Amino acid sequence: METKTHEQLHIFFLPFMGQGHTLPLIDIAKLFASRGEKSTIITTPANAPIFTRAIQTSRSSGLDIELLLIKFPSTEVGLPEGIESSNWSETAEIAEKFFKALSLLEQQIEKLLHQYHPHCIVSSSLFHWTTDLAAKFGIPRLIFQGPGFFPLCASMSVTLYQPHMKVASDSEAFVLPNLPHEIIITRNELPSYIKQDDETEILKLLKQCRETEKRSFGIIINSFYELEPDYADHYRKAFGRKSWHIGPVSLCNTAENDQSARGREGSDDQVHECLHWLNSKKPNSVVYVCFGSLNSFSDCVLTEIALGLEASEHQFIWVAKKEKDDKEEWLPEGFEQRMEGKGLIIRGWAPQLLILQHEAVGAFLTHCGWNSILEGVTAGVPMITWPLFADQFYNEKLVTQILGIGVSVGSRKTSDGAVKSKAGVKWEAIKKAVTEIMDGDEAEKIRCKAVALGEIARSAVEEGGSSYSDLTALIEEVRSFKS
Ligand code: UDP
Repeated sequence: METKTHEQLHIFFLPFMGQGHTLPLIDIAKLFASRGEKSTIITTPANAPIFTRAIQTSRSSGLDIELLLIKFPSTEVGLPEGIESSNWSETAEIAEKFFKALSLLEQQIEKLLHQYHPHCIVSSSLFHWTTDLAAKFGIPRLIFQGPGFFPLCASMSVTLYQPHMKVASDSEAFVLPNLPHEIIITRNELPSYIKQDDETEILKLLKQCRETEKRSFGIIINSFYELEPDYADHYRKAFGRKSWHIGPVSLCNTAENDQSARGREGSDDQVHECLHWLNSKKPNSVVYVCFGSLNSFSDCVLTEIALGLEASEHQFIWVAKKEKDDKEEWLPEGFEQRMEGKGLIIRGWAPQLLILQHEAVGAFLTHCGWNSILEGVTAGVPMITWPLFADQFYNEKLVTQILGIGVSVGSRKTSDGAVKSKAGVKWEAIKKAVTEIMDGDEAEKIRCKAVALGEIARSAVEEGGSSYSDLTALIEEVRSFKS
């Protein structure tokens, strides 16, 4: 931790309740604290367990970081008690109520601002009302954007130029206008909310977020300049947004304890089992398969994945999440016996950072969530891309077309919601992609590029690196705003 030469800044962090937002925002709070500032994270009781271990380990290593709890207004919007995160938003009705509840948090945050007088508030983009609230208290509001520069630019291109309205069918390819590269996409791959005609609550919310984005102090991006320089420049110039890239933020978890505790409660037995299993494998011999924190699948999709992995004849760790009310048996007959020693199936939460960094891991089959992409890049691991929804199709194009560190499994249609019930990708395609990335003609070239990029990612957060310097600049700007 750095020693303080100025008055300490006190920063409030208000993360959106979903692991994909929460985990990087905890890391950002730790980064500010590691520079000698004070970080206070605000969340609700049901979400608190995700934070407690991270806060405890950070505090015991001397960081000034704490957690404040506020009540989630479940009853006020007609949600059952305990539903306080987007992980539960599987039906449109629950999602709508959940998003309505978010705007009801304003009064409680206002009270905390009165009580604590922080110097700045960093909140997820969906808390659009924090811009005006911060202005009321004369402090800056920084937005935390989950995605990197490339998906943000792609999304802005669609919103501004509406290229998807000029094609005749969902499968007709078109170019995303006004971007540094020629990025070809179809309507099938665009986030589903873009294609909705009606003014749904979620669309209205997104509009409000964009509106307040322009009036906020600026945007924190979990990326590093060298990963997407054209898009970092484009985002700043073409859209006039003030932004700071300070990632990969997951790299602030340097101790094994921090990495294994990330996003998880409970015992470390599973972590040890997983590391023990990986320790027995040769370098670059294992494919790690994980679809993020939200996605669960029906039997038929899980069966295709199992068959594809088996047919590839490669070893794997597969984080398999099953649709909640699906019947119990879902693996092909005898699969687990046949895969004994060859495949490790994790039902639940995997220590992703630890797994990706293990030398035995040779490829990452990912759903292309931004955090996963960045974590794969940081670990220097080539990727097999299987986007499912939201900005994941954009992220796939960054990995495969621009960076050249992955191959696509061929997912071409966005799926609605978090439960994936139809197998758009067949086992043959999974087998082909795994073979291509592990032992195809191009595999070695892809691996070299991935390893080189991983080294650049790690040096970006070292003293003097691009992300380290941008965080310094951000802290200075917040400090001068205060003075
Ligand atoms: N993650 C993890 N273990 C799991 C699943 C996910 O540690 O079993 C972490 C992963 O490391 C990443 C985050 O959860 O930091 C998922 O974020 P991402 O943007 O990749 O996807 P999302 O879950 O938001 O779709």
